[in-house]
Amino acid sequence: MLYNTCSIRDKAEQKVFNRLQNFKKAGKDKIFGVLGCVAQQEGEKIFDRAPHVSLVCGSASYPKFGEMLVQLEAGNRHVTGLSIDTEETFDTPFTRRDNPHRAYITIIEGCDKSCAYCVVPFTRGPERSRTSASVMDEARRLAAEGYSEIQLLGQNVNSYRDPSAAGWDFATLLARVAEIDGIRRVRYTTSHPRDFVKAIVDAMDANPVLCDHVHLPVQSGSTKVLAAMDRLYTRDEYMRRIDWLKNAKRRYSLTTDIIVGFPGETEDDFQKTLDLLDQVQYDSLFSFKYSPRPNTSALQMEDRVAEEEKQRRLAILQEKQRAIQIRRNAELIGEIREVLVEGRNHALGQWIGRGSDHRTINFTHPENGGESLVGRYLHVRVTRSGPNSLVGESASVV
Ligand code: SF4
Repeated sequence: MLYNTCSIRDKAEQKVFNRLQNFKKAGKDKIFGVLGCVAQQEGEKIFDRAPHVSLVCGSASYPKFGEMLVQLEAGNRHVTGLSIDTEETFDTPFTRRDNPHRAYITIIEGCDKSCAYCVVPFTRGPERSRTSASVMDEARRLAAEGYSEIQLLGQNVNSYRDPSAAGWDFATLLARVAEIDGIRRVRYTTSHPRDFVKAIVDAMDANPVLCDHVHLPVQSGSTKVLAAMDRLYTRDEYMRRIDWLKNAKRRYSLTTDIIVGFPGETEDDFQKTLDLLDQVQYDSLFSFKYSPRPNTSALQMEDRVAEEEKQRRLAILQEKQRAIQIRRNAELIGEIREVLVEGRNHALGQWIGRGSDHRTINFTHPENGGESLVGRYLHVRVTRSGPNSLVGESASVV
């Protein structure tokens, strides 16, 4: 029984140990392995706290996973894969994909940044890019299998560097993947503003297959807090990227991540973040209260913001963003947009689609004998809007 773990949430390790106890009861006579970021973070301590576990393996060691299984088969009950000192990336020939229309392709693993709040460089190791040939082969194979949307993944996709002689950068890779026959949409996540260069916007402008959406995590609107976070850009430098996008040929939907209550964040810093929301007018954002993580430099920082104050700031931020989204979504009423149909809400008699700009649109479509529309691209007229989604009616099949 292999338990894959994520350490991005607060107190993730406690949740993992609780679950491991439950698994133990449910899985008598089974062999247990813990994979992923909590495995990397807690390491061999897992054997002490959960003695029924026989394998602890972080993601940087997945290329050696086959060898580890052989060791387990041979009876070894303390097998580890915990080195992050690696240059290997893994190809993913056996990836399980549950969505038959959208496929994710990892292009780069690990992270060479050292943001003060983030545990990723410790759990995922240094940056390693896959060769462009391997990414392109996988994308072509997926297109041939009928996938029409590709999402390129990495902790920091913008710093992608093809390790082969071709030497492609991220903008080149994006442009080439978008040219593959059968691929109608290409997305990517996550970007780091420092490495988000103008060539990426130019590549997007040149080919509408590259979706009308950029997720550019800012984290704070205060240059002082950005410096404390070690984010490697100022507010002005971030805004330069936003200006490229606002002055581009197409209208791009902009989304971001924000942390409130980072150590040392004053009321004035927080106001700067609110002011940034006014300035950028994001289409959506993910917001979090700062919470400490093991092995991060922010752990040593003093001047912590009280929990109630973090909660207050989060509520104000979310309320402001909600008002922005209500206004921005209402501006789209009357537009006709192309959506990829993702599902059906039987209770409401609506189909669920997603626009190139990543907005969800729930829409009605004339009765068609019960045939599923999932995976099709349709034109939909927007008739109503809410803070988080649009409502519409089918306009035509494209
Ligand atoms: S760039 Fe992203 S993954 Fe890397 S350290 Fe910063 S927050 Fe973490």
